[in-house]
Amino acid sequence: MAHYELRCRECGRTWGNQPRSICDDCFSPLEVTYDYDALRAALLRGSNGHGAFSREAISQRPPNMWRYSELLPLPQGFEPRLPVGFTPLLQAPHLAERLGAQARNLYIKNDAVCLPTLSFKDRVVAVALAQARAFGFDTVSCSSTGNLANAVAAHAAREGLKAWIFIPADLEPAKILGTNVYGAKVVRIAGNYDQVNRLCSQIADEHRWGFVNVNLRPYYAEGSKTVGFEIAEQLGWRLPDNLVCPMAGGSLITKIKKAFDELVKLGLVEAKEVKFFGAQATGCSPISTAIKTGSAEIEPQKPATIARSLAIGNPADGHYAIKTIKSSGGWSEDVSDPEVIDSIRLLAETEGIFTETAGGVTVGTAAKLYRQDRILPEETTVLCVTGNGLKTTDALAGVYRTEQPIAPKLVEFENYLRRTLDVAEVPGVIAAREEAASVGA
Ligand SMILES: *Cc1c(COP(=O)(O)O)cnc(C)c1O
Ligand SMILES: [Zn+2]
Repeated sequence: MAHYELRCRECGRTWGNQPRSICDDCFSPLEVTYDYDALRAALLRGSNGHGAFSREAISQRPPNMWRYSELLPLPQGFEPRLPVGFTPLLQAPHLAERLGAQARNLYIKNDAVCLPTLSFKDRVVAVALAQARAFGFDTVSCSSTGNLANAVAAHAAREGLKAWIFIPADLEPAKILGTNVYGAKVVRIAGNYDQVNRLCSQIADEHRWGFVNVNLRPYYAEGSKTVGFEIAEQLGWRLPDNLVCPMAGGSLITKIKKAFDELVKLGLVEAKEVKFFGAQATGCSPISTAIKTGSAEIEPQKPATIARSLAIGNPADGHYAIKTIKSSGGWSEDVSDPEVIDSIRLLAETEGIFTETAGGVTVGTAAKLYRQDRILPEETTVLCVTGNGLKTTDALAGVYRTEQPIAPKLVEFENYLRRTLDVAEVPGVIAAREEAASVGA
């Protein structure tokens, strides 16, 4: 028997393991729960089939998310076929200086380089597809704001599954191409993500397909925990004071909390109060708006932001994200599209990390939180950078001027150098940026 099963988050009824995300009794979402007592005993004895689950044993395992397999809902005999995760946790001293943090205390969890498709969505898809296979699906599917589309298409190709991907028609071209290339069927819907998602729920009732974020959602969500496990391990098996996390459906932030709680439960890290801070774009900020207005419930919004990967107006886990943030003593903020662009550039210029718009949202929000003294300079703070800038280059269109080429002659270069040094900050660049920002707004 598996050491995990689905349980209703509200009424507590258990549902075994099956492709289902909603409780029939009370219509609340299901979540994967583990038998932690049995797990703890097995882990201590090393009788779980993987050897002991101690700090030392884990740190000897291959550097990917499967090193935490005992805390993931994986089918019996599951053999991972892709080394997903275990992305760098980097100190960010130059960014710290710009945000007013102490140089040693600011970290970036860099999922811009998560493999294989350069966003944290590879983690959730890896777990969902393990179950899709176990449930006997030969076709996997999803509704997506872009990164999930890329991840499902790539992992499905690797696993030999068919993939049907549903996206809002106005997604970034790089994200559409980055789905097509794997041979997935891409269905563009004339509507926003929330409409695409509703359609997918209806399709899931008609076709026996494994929708990673619909009928497989509880398993998918568990994959997000690996971000939290890695942060704790990479900090030397301790928890940070603060975590800043971008929110779309609101799942990731709640699962990082679950990960920290599980590590404490199993005695792998010492208990500690971690403040959770949510980050959204102002043009789609249902969760941060609820936090800022003191509401316990979500008021759905119509998204209007360049941060497409976060553009979910009616977040499935919004209610739980609010709970996670409030109960931790954290906060949520949102930033405008021009702030997103400035923050993408700030992170790239200070730390050499090129993130997509969602990462700009996180960094811009963190800057605000330091200014508001909600995060203090000496506290250990981790910013979750969840996706790669090469997928959203259109957000930076017009920011950089294309220079006239010069002849391949030394004298030409010396002239060019003199001209460039004469003009310290090129005014044209700033004007172009402001223009691009107002177009995006
Ligand atoms: C999906 C996504 C998120 C947020 O995920 P949720 O779990 O839905 O809140 C954050 N960043 C990026 C880049 C994403 O693609
Ligand atoms: Zn229920």
